[in-house]
Amino acid sequence: MKTWDTKNCTIYQLLEGRSNSFLINSQNNYILIDTGRANSWEKLSNKIDEILGKNKLSCLILTHTHFDHVENAAKINEKYKSIIIVHQSESEYIMLGNSPLPKGSNLATGFMTEVLGKKLESRYQYEKVNPDINVDEKYDLIDFGFNSYIIHTPGHSKGSISIIIDHEVAVVGDAMFRVFGNSIYPPFADDPDTMVKSWNKLINTNCDLFLPGHGKEISRKLLESQYEKYK
Ligand SMILES: [Zn+2]
Ligand SMILES: [Zn+2]
Repeated sequence: MKTWDTKNCTIYQLLEGRSNSFLINSQNNYILIDTGRANSWEKLSNKIDEILGKNKLSCLILTHTHFDHVENAAKINEKYKSIIIVHQSESEYIMLGNSPLPKGSNLATGFMTEVLGKKLESRYQYEKVNPDINVDEKYDLIDFGFNSYIIHTPGHSKGSISIIIDHEVAVVGDAMFRVFGNSIYPPFADDPDTMVKSWNKLINTNCDLFLPGHGKEISRKLLESQYEKYK
């Protein structure tokens, strides 16, 4: 399992490939970020149990409510009784178990979502669950035992959020992708201009490393060069 260490935290990558899921740990405190798709439930819960031992999973943060990040959210809530945190603008979606699919941000994906979007939407409904905390611009995680906070980084979806861990590493959901070589530009985004502005917000956190919802880690240098290209 891939891990990263910051001054006070360890970050574990529980799921990779199709969708990433991360667990962050500080002393005896644990927070899960995103849950992947339904078919990865066993892998996900086994890894959580292995790392937690007798400790409690206090909280699940959803970077946004697209199906590929939240399909196991209800199950996590049921098994671990963890608090669920989501951005207020997508709270309604997770309560309905239905989130609008994002728009394509290039010619091919744009065409795809234009033609198939509405048809696909009903296929990607998921088990609904009620969030406990709805965040807005910024939310401090100190009460959960972490020197970390959440910031609003919209663009891929209106309620996309990032988790800034120890001022060193940011878990950014689908605000960035690292699936195709050195491009970090997501193939889907509702508002690409706002998304690129969110990259600047993330640069200003002073983090060195950015962990996306899909694909590999992104260095600060790569983010800065991609920001220069797309701003
Ligand atoms: Zn997404
Ligand atoms: Zn995604």
